[in-house]
Amino acid sequence: MLRDTARSDTTTADVLRWQTNHRIALALIAGAVSVGLRTVGFLHLSPVADAVVGPEMADWYLGLVPVSYAILVIAIRGWVQRQRSAGQALSTLMAVADLVVVFWLVFLLASVENYHLGLFLALFSLQLTHVYFGRAPALLTLAATAAAYLLLNDIADRHGAVIRWGEVLITLAIFGTGALLVTRVQSNLHERLGALVRMFDRAQEGDFGTSYDVSADRRPDAITAVGRAYNRMRTELASIVLTDPLSGCFNRRGFEQQYRRELARAARAQTPLALLAIDLDHFKQVNDTHGHLVGDKVIAGVGELLRASARQDDVVARTGGEEFTILAPNTSLEGAQQLAQRVVEAFHRRPFGDSVNRIPVTVSIGVAADNVRDDGMGEALRARADEALYAAKRTGRNRVVTWSPDPLKSLAAGAPEMPPA
Ligand code: GH3
Ligand code: MG
Ligand code: MG
Repeated sequence: MLRDTARSDTTTADVLRWQTNHRIALALIAGAVSVGLRTVGFLHLSPVADAVVGPEMADWYLGLVPVSYAILVIAIRGWVQRQRSAGQALSTLMAVADLVVVFWLVFLLASVENYHLGLFLALFSLQLTHVYFGRAPALLTLAATAAAYLLLNDIADRHGAVIRWGEVLITLAIFGTGALLVTRVQSNLHERLGALVRMFDRAQEGDFGTSYDVSADRRPDAITAVGRAYNRMRTELASIVLTDPLSGCFNRRGFEQQYRRELARAARAQTPLALLAIDLDHFKQVNDTHGHLVGDKVIAGVGELLRASARQDDVVARTGGEEFTILAPNTSLEGAQQLAQRVVEAFHRRPFGDSVNRIPVTVSIGVAADNVRDDGMGEALRARADEALYAAKRTGRNRVVTWSPDPLKSLAAGAPEMPPA
């Protein structure tokens, strides 16, 4: 339900705050109009109110109840402003106060046959409560409405009015059924809107993993149409937000998301995770010699080559200008070294540039792999792969260096330099 997600206690407080003036104005207008109409003789006191509180007190109450309501609303606003939040109790109190005013005015002014007017007016309060505060306060409001209606009839009954209880109960049953139906429909709307809001929230974080379940909507409506439109856009959005258009690989954002996911998965399954930090060697020279456009074409070719070298489950990302990262799930250090070696060799075989301008491109790769034990592991693994990459650069480039806790061993693991063919 929307209440659990998008509608927090803070937004409940906001709604209560902005509704304050409307509530006060409505209550005071209702009070003033009733008193005014009574004074000019347009409105008569109900015989039951006459019998229960007497004409003088009834007139007094006619003004007093809206004023007391206004004071309560102002007090609630003050409290909300100080606390900066409002829970369900406060929104329910507000709805119950609405009902007290409605039924009190009905009691004072309406004849017994017109007590159902209270139900009509309460329907507004019920709707507003549901829209702004959620299902639970709305159901409480519904129960309070039913209780107030029965109480009104009971008071009238005890003061000599003829109450046809059968009619009263039928009216109440019709009202209750209708209100429950509307509440159900509205809850369903809220739930589905909430699902959409959560999907958009996740999309904002770069997570396009969930689609809107169109088949769950038995009677498709406007919300289904929004869900369907989102589903159509989802793949396109994911590709725009998470991939690098030049190389066709994941971009940094896409990589970070995949990395978080794979770290969590590896921690759960207790499987190793490998990282390859890849940097093109002397790429500045490629740009300087052949120009940026040719450099761009090389980067696009590198993306293709890396994706072709990696497995389906591996994540290939362009994490910098001429820097790439391969994340290999469920891969041991040996497996990662083999992959890195395959990549270095693939660069030797792959011709970049065209038949006239053949551009030799080599890469340096730092490899790190480990079992994921805790949350800090992600950063540690990244730092190790970078450290190994710098070692590969320092020791001559065009090679693989595997990280090891012992720096000398780390360098010894570097593959011998292999000049491009
Ligand atoms: P090293 O072997 O030490 O990595 O040398 P390098 O020249 O590759 O490294 P350096 O960091 O000095 O230069 C990186 C170059 O990569 C400079 C920059 O112009 C180029 N580069 C980065 N992003 C792009 C890009 O999107 N397109 C092109 N054409 N070149 C890029
Ligand atoms: Mg470089
Ligand atoms: Mg670089």
